[in-house]
Amino acid sequence: MDRRAFLFLTVASMLEPQSAAPPAGAPDTPSGPDPQTAAFEAWLRDFTIRAIAAGWSADLVTEQLAGLTVNPKVVDLDTRQPELVKSTGDYVRQSITEERVITGRRKRAEVSQFPDIEARWGVPSEVLTGIWSQESGYGAIQGDLDVIRSLASLASDGRRRDWAETQIFAAFRMIQDGDATRGQMKGSWAGAMGQTQLIPEAFLTTAVDGDGDGKRDIWNSSADALASAANLMSKDGWRRGEAWAREVLISSDFDYSLAEGPRHTPGEWAAMGARRADGLPFADIDKETPCQLILPAGATGPAFLLFPNHFVIRRYNNSTAYALTVGLLADRVAGMGPLTVAWPIEPPLSMDDRAGAQKALLALGFDPGTPDGVIGVNTRQALRAWQKARGRPADGHLTQALSQQLRAEAAPLLAPSAPPPAADGPPAPAGAPPATPSSAILGPATPH
Ligand code: CA
Repeated sequence: MDRRAFLFLTVASMLEPQSAAPPAGAPDTPSGPDPQTAAFEAWLRDFTIRAIAAGWSADLVTEQLAGLTVNPKVVDLDTRQPELVKSTGDYVRQSITEERVITGRRKRAEVSQFPDIEARWGVPSEVLTGIWSQESGYGAIQGDLDVIRSLASLASDGRRRDWAETQIFAAFRMIQDGDATRGQMKGSWAGAMGQTQLIPEAFLTTAVDGDGDGKRDIWNSSADALASAANLMSKDGWRRGEAWAREVLISSDFDYSLAEGPRHTPGEWAAMGARRADGLPFADIDKETPCQLILPAGATGPAFLLFPNHFVIRRYNNSTAYALTVGLLADRVAGMGPLTVAWPIEPPLSMDDRAGAQKALLALGFDPGTPDGVIGVNTRQALRAWQKARGRPADGHLTQALSQQLRAEAAPLLAPSAPPPAADGPPAPAGAPPATPSSAILGPATPH
């Protein structure tokens, strides 16, 4: 038997399922571990063998994986649908307080490497400051979960197996190359680490030494974390010198259904009734750039033209609320004033508000996609079509009151005797690790 085959068998036997003690109060039966533990142990055995077969050192693989257990909290965070969803406006308003603006200006001034970082990657220091604030509260909240255990838990659950396994291999590489010890590799439930919350793959491909000490330490060196984030955003397509978004004021006869639609240049938008709110001209570099108009809080809230750089921030964390918070905080840190139009104060939407509105739209003949309680583009387009058909401003913005109206209109069609809508697959919660990730990350659930 050659050494590799011997190691296979040795490792496989080390990973035989241990007889798990039954939970306290459980009936004393000879049944095995609970299904989640059993699935984790099966995945762990299989993955260990595959990792060694792929050429990883058996010593490294067993040292990192032997004895690992599932973290049920991670799987729960990945799959749970929130009962209450805070409005984008509430999230942004609560995230950008005067105190946070002052803190942001102070933290930005503390990083002596920012001029070099801006010159090399073209990402403005205020935008990086916004990322730094939202990702870790300037390094104060980096996450304290063992990253390999979190990723293994996600891999064993199956929904993100390929993604999570890729990250585990990247974590092995970091340990093997001496970038970090296992003990250092703490992070979020989604495997993001350090002051700017990079997943292991993003660390390997983009982390850089920003302070010149020869190490890439995104945990303890702000300059390293920020330079790495700038490198990542540059690779993701950040356009040097261009805006990320501009607030616009829209005319009273504006066609709200243009929101989230085709892109136009700022001049074309002005001709359609959307002009820059602060009255300043657009920079030359922005004038010919097609941008999308959004109304994240509906017709009564602020409107924005989104430049391509907005979508680069979204690659860091794919949430409009997150990108608006980073960008608007950046604008304030750089000296701009508050928004011209205030965010309306809206109650959060419950699962009934969200899924109920989707079921009502479906019953009324407007297809919102799967009625899963996740309000995405399809739901907003269906809502716009319903609003248009009813002669309302078609802003596609769901509120509690609108949900009640939709459900009342659809109630005769949704009699209790009617069969329930077909069951559907698990929705992708906002803020979950992306299917094709470039970086990391937690959703905007908790402003730091
Ligand atoms: Ca360094």
